[in-house]
Amino acid sequence: MSAPPAYTDVVARIARAAQAAGRDPADVTLVAVSKQQPWEAIQPVLDAGQRVFGENRVQEAMGRWSDRAGLELRLIGPLQTNKAREAVAFFDVIESVDREKLARVLADEVQKQGKSPRLYVQVNTGEEDQKAGVIPPEADAFIGACRGTYGLGVEGLMCIPPEAEPPGPHFALLAKIAARNGVAGLSMGMSGDFETAIRFGATSVRVGSAVFGARTSLRTSESGH
Ligand SMILES: *Cc1c(COP(=O)(O)O)cnc(C)c1O
Repeated sequence: MSAPPAYTDVVARIARAAQAAGRDPADVTLVAVSKQQPWEAIQPVLDAGQRVFGENRVQEAMGRWSDRAGLELRLIGPLQTNKAREAVAFFDVIESVDREKLARVLADEVQKQGKSPRLYVQVNTGEEDQKAGVIPPEADAFIGACRGTYGLGVEGLMCIPPEAEPPGPHFALLAKIAARNGVAGLSMGMSGDFETAIRFGATSVRVGSAVFGARTSLRTSESGH
């Protein structure tokens, strides 16, 4: 069976964008965002060799990926503290660490379970009220608290730029905060702007609809709501 054209196209566009930016395509990870997608859309992408998937809800992800051998699963949606235990047990990467209470609960679970997912701090670069994430003026202190107070490693930063603005300045801001804090990972760029994000240094891009097609769902469950 041949790979789905939309998937092949996204993979090729990532490679071209990396090369155009003088970067190695292997340094940009495609996180295929499978949230709210039917299994019929996911299976062919899995068969084509995709191994990294993003989900925004703990329960939905656990149901869908009960068989997850050899896969890397990333939580990209907001995490409630009462789901932290399951999230630590299930996910390889949690990209939505954004407040001290959550950092504390995650640190407890890491201790208890003897297992630590790789962690990203979500930054609300647009300082939007409805969006999750620490605001930029508080990012350095929060990253410091994750490391110092809670003993958590911070692999990267994640952002979702405001829909109505050009994303470039938001990606540049995230890269700047990462650089001054010695954080290597940059999770930024979605279906509409992943090539721009790669130009600004994204090490992973979270692409859903461009890979799988439009989601059949309500907006309220997306983008940090
Ligand atoms: C849904 C979602 C994506 C993927 O969005 P597309 O526009 O479909 O590529 C990426 N990141 C987050 C945090 C999301 O919630």
